[in-house]
Amino acid sequence: MSLPLHASCHLEVGAIGQGTALEWTGGGTRDTHCIQNLRLGLDLGMTVVDTAPIYENGHAEAVVGRALVDRRTEAFLATKFSPDASRRKDVIRSAEESLRRLQTDWIDLLQVHWPHPSVPLSESLEGMVELVEQGKVRHLGLGNCTAAQISEALQTPAGPHLLSVQQEYSLLDRSIESDVLPLCREHQLWLLGYSPLARGKIAPSDPRAEVLSEIAARHGASVAQVVLAWLCRDGSVLPIPRSGSENHLRENAAAAAIELSTEDIARIDSAYAMRMIPVATDDIVVPPGDRVYTTLAEARENRFGLVPGPVDLADKIAAGEMLKPIKVEVDRDDPHRRYRLLEGRVRYWAWVIAHEGNRPIPAVIEGREEC
Ligand code: NAP
Repeated sequence: MSLPLHASCHLEVGAIGQGTALEWTGGGTRDTHCIQNLRLGLDLGMTVVDTAPIYENGHAEAVVGRALVDRRTEAFLATKFSPDASRRKDVIRSAEESLRRLQTDWIDLLQVHWPHPSVPLSESLEGMVELVEQGKVRHLGLGNCTAAQISEALQTPAGPHLLSVQQEYSLLDRSIESDVLPLCREHQLWLLGYSPLARGKIAPSDPRAEVLSEIAARHGASVAQVVLAWLCRDGSVLPIPRSGSENHLRENAAAAAIELSTEDIARIDSAYAMRMIPVATDDIVVPPGDRVYTTLAEARENRFGLVPGPVDLADKIAAGEMLKPIKVEVDRDDPHRRYRLLEGRVRYWAWVIAHEGNRPIPAVIEGREEC
């Protein structure tokens, strides 16, 4: 099964692609293993390869370049530019650096990784269109955008070159279903679903997973395959799972052929209905971590230089734009605060700054909801 050919797309692509972020460091045998897996993925029909300059500081792109060096025309190569390269000239410089690392003359799909809140999207798109005109890029994609930003981009000269939107989409994060996904369907844009396996967090211990296990057993498939088949259910989503395991790669590729019944889909939809509620920001603990701010003062200062930083994003949020809900789980260790932040370290602080801590933030609750 392959994704329906987009009117402007030069190549038919497999219905499931390959992600390349994370766990790519190490060099040596680790790189060799990644290269073998990427090439196996191509053999199995997972021809969309998604990477980005930010992944391992360009190392992921370099590894992808080595993997595709003699098989370039078999792949549909997608990369991105980072928010701090959103100015027109920086978009062009970033793509040229990607081309060098990827050892290729063209990028099939150049995507906005995250829009920079202080740089007009139209300026980034101008740079992207120039790259198309120069023959260095074939198609353009958006990523981590609101429905309003997608509509805006479609009205610019980049509109006819837009092929895709890359957003997080999994059974544990269905926030795009209300606006972005229908918009993509309406405009025949591919939805590249990132973190489709919820970063490996669809745990068998979650009671909801019983539905998946039962459906998987009936199809002689694994739970991960059922999840991917659910994402591919109507041909408008192209999931890009990442795997470092040969067995998992084979499973993921084969998932494209699994056809779930209408009843299977309805049962999964109902078991994994998204639990999103407004949560008072004071009821959320931000645990320390790599480049995470745990206090408002730290977030305002932005000493790690995050782009966009919480203050940048706060202006957009104050103007009514919110990309997607944060993710929290019940914090069982803290008797006073009820939730622990799992994802959205910048969005959380931006929301606190924008609303001066007085407005509850939309949050997806992961795991069991109540203590
Ligand atoms: P993911 O693909 O949802 O999950 C990856 C995890 O799932 C890994 O631990 C992997 O383990 C496991 N896995 C893969 N196939 C499996 C299978 N058949 N059975 C069981 N486990 C399986 O999460 P992700 O890496 O965050 O997202 C995928 C890609 O999306 C990234 O590589 C990147 O290209 C893209 N992405 C984009 C953005 C963005 O902002 N645009 C953000 C995040 C990610 P094994 O290695 O053991 O298989």
